[in-house]
Amino acid sequence: MDLYAVFGHPVGHSLSPRIHRLFAEETAQQMEYERREPPMDGFAEALAAFQEEGGAGANVTVPFKETAWDLAEQRSERAERAGAVNTLICGESLYGDNTDGEGLINDLRNNLGVGLAGKRLLIIGAGGAARGVLAPLLAEQPANLVIANRTAERAQVLAAAFDDIGGVEGIGLDELDGERFEVVINATSSGLDGEVPTLPESIVADGATAYDMVYGAEPTPFLRWASANGAFRTRDGLGMLVEQAAGAFELWRHIRPSTEPVIETLRHDTRP
Ligand code: NDP
Repeated sequence: MDLYAVFGHPVGHSLSPRIHRLFAEETAQQMEYERREPPMDGFAEALAAFQEEGGAGANVTVPFKETAWDLAEQRSERAERAGAVNTLICGESLYGDNTDGEGLINDLRNNLGVGLAGKRLLIIGAGGAARGVLAPLLAEQPANLVIANRTAERAQVLAAAFDDIGGVEGIGLDELDGERFEVVINATSSGLDGEVPTLPESIVADGATAYDMVYGAEPTPFLRWASANGAFRTRDGLGMLVEQAAGAFELWRHIRPSTEPVIETLRHDTRP
């Protein structure tokens, strides 16, 4: 039986074991999937021990994604750009990939019917989550992509890292006055504290889609704000979570699981 695990700290809340068990059932794969919670400074040792046990692959979540990037001996181009690895394949060499951007785009396109080509796109936040999805978002060829962050400098630095691709601008939240976007993605952690970033009401264009990477049983504070300010469609990050997991599962097992039934199941019961 092939062994997989999700590494995080804390990791008790992670839905990944449930998601991968549902994928394995549906695709008739013989695999075990566990949680591993190394100490904050103990990821490298825990990963080495997992490989010794014969671990075939791993998902990596907060706060180990950047260390996983360092440890990977080979990386996909999208992981290279993201500066973070959420999926590891353990073989003769350790291979690192990042399926977060693919997860977001698949959820928008396949589950919500929203394509990004030619759209004005706003990402709020300039942390690891924003960085992780930027290259795949740009590959969809939006008309332009603005990164707006509470700390403007972080948005500027992040945008500059994509200068060679072009079409990305980094600004402070207070520079958004008068701007309008067709797709607005909240990649901040503000919702975890029940907060909404301070945003001008006018940024949501008519018919716009609002997406929050945070998810939960109730609409997130950002999605409530977006609905009240004219968003036509809203979606939280549960679909992205399941889609990024499907990307990892396909890398490991070479079979694509169905995501929609898993999203539906978790929507009704978000317990780990
Ligand atoms: P980081 O800690 O790296 O970055 C946090 C970001 O949020 C920063 O840009 C920070 O701004 C901003 N922020 C926090 N609080 C506020 C606030 N009250 N108002 C305005 N801005 C705020 O976190 P990550 O980037 O790693 O993660 C962000 C979120 O994305 C998390 O909640 C995570 O759960 C979610 N996520 C979901 C995924 C999914 O599959 N659905 C995948 C990956 C992440 P500043 O720089 O000014 O401090």
